[in-house]
Amino acid sequence: MPFTANRAFKAAPRLLQRAKGMWYWDVDNRPILDATAGLWCVNAGHCRSEIHQAIMEQSRTLDFAPTFQMGHPLPFQFARRLIQHTPVGLEHVFFTNSGSESVDTALKIALAYHHAHGEVERILFIGREKAYHGVGFGGISVGGLPNNRAAFANRLLTDHLPHTLDLEHNAFSRGMPSYGIEKADALHELIRKHGAERIAAVIVEPVAGSAGVIVPPVGYLQRLRDICTAHGILLIFDEVITGFGRLGTPFASNFFGVVPDIMTTAKGLTNAAVPMGAVFVSEWIYDDIIKNAVQPIELFHGYTYSGHPLACAAGLAALQIYENEGLLTRGTGLAIPFEEMVHSLRDQPNVIDIRNLGLMAAIELQPKPGAPGIRGMEVMKLAFEQGLLLRVTGDIIALSPPLIIEEEHMSQIQQKLVKILQVVS
Ligand code: PMP
Repeated sequence: MPFTANRAFKAAPRLLQRAKGMWYWDVDNRPILDATAGLWCVNAGHCRSEIHQAIMEQSRTLDFAPTFQMGHPLPFQFARRLIQHTPVGLEHVFFTNSGSESVDTALKIALAYHHAHGEVERILFIGREKAYHGVGFGGISVGGLPNNRAAFANRLLTDHLPHTLDLEHNAFSRGMPSYGIEKADALHELIRKHGAERIAAVIVEPVAGSAGVIVPPVGYLQRLRDICTAHGILLIFDEVITGFGRLGTPFASNFFGVVPDIMTTAKGLTNAAVPMGAVFVSEWIYDDIIKNAVQPIELFHGYTYSGHPLACAAGLAALQIYENEGLLTRGTGLAIPFEEMVHSLRDQPNVIDIRNLGLMAAIELQPKPGAPGIRGMEVMKLAFEQGLLLRVTGDIIALSPPLIIEEEHMSQIQQKLVKILQVVS
């Protein structure tokens, strides 16, 4: 099983059987409140009938169309709808099947862009410590979580910025922490070390998700943007988690007012009903590749299932729900009660930090001496038993509920967490 301790799981499996709205039910028919939107992805809540209907109808009409030198209208239709919500300038779309594929596609587009310019030396990527960018070789190379790379040598040429987590200065910050903008200046050092002319792109998650919701310090992303622009280095935002309303804006770039050159998405793109990812690319990058590429196939890249009809149908239906119900901005109003709810847990046992932005939050627990991750795992298991779905990474509890959450669900999450934190040793 993916990312699972297989032997332990076999002894005590946790199996979900059905879902609706904010809730899952396990195979014993116990309700489980979903505080993580599945895996940061079911933004409009589970089993939406509009999406179900769209997938059924599409599977009757056109199940698949080959993607080489041929296509079908839905990806174009979906792309045109999507770019009404993306930050200005990010107006070309390449469809993939997952976040990992979106990341690898974005890295390849960056290389193709420099190649089309004759800047063939620009092949090095800068990632960031603690980043998660999926599991492709590109993603684990730019990613910065040691476990994802440990057994897998032979990666891309990369270097890494320091992460921005700073419990000493920023613990219990609400929203963006005020300390740490100068962490972006490490990019100057990497440019001195490698030479700007060798760096293809910098890739960051605007808010790091999988490492435990690390919110960037005020001004940090803008500073990265400025340094990249000054040196002809492309800036890629990995918005696989932050895309589609998680921060109360359609994308994190809208929230921070910083526009990258390339943006990766997946997860909320189809409300997770069908696997799909999308990479958004600046007009000028697209134009350059199309104009200057020497091969007739300008971007020699693609997947059998790029823009799959069922995924497009699900995505179009999901976007319609997001628009009809105002979900891409609903988090703005909910961010304050959500912040109050998570920070009310401050005095619970073992809590050493609480971080939040929009409808993302983390509660960091003190690791047990000599046994990191054990306390976190206990919390996750106990929560599941008590009917609460949490994402736990090490000793950090991450919350990212569906964007349809109501205040009554927030109090249920809060009450359950208090109970759990009180009993976990
Ligand atoms: N990038 C980010 C920021 C992610 O959070 C994830 C998944 N959690 C991925 C990439 C990879 O997505 P997938 O699991 O769909 O390949």
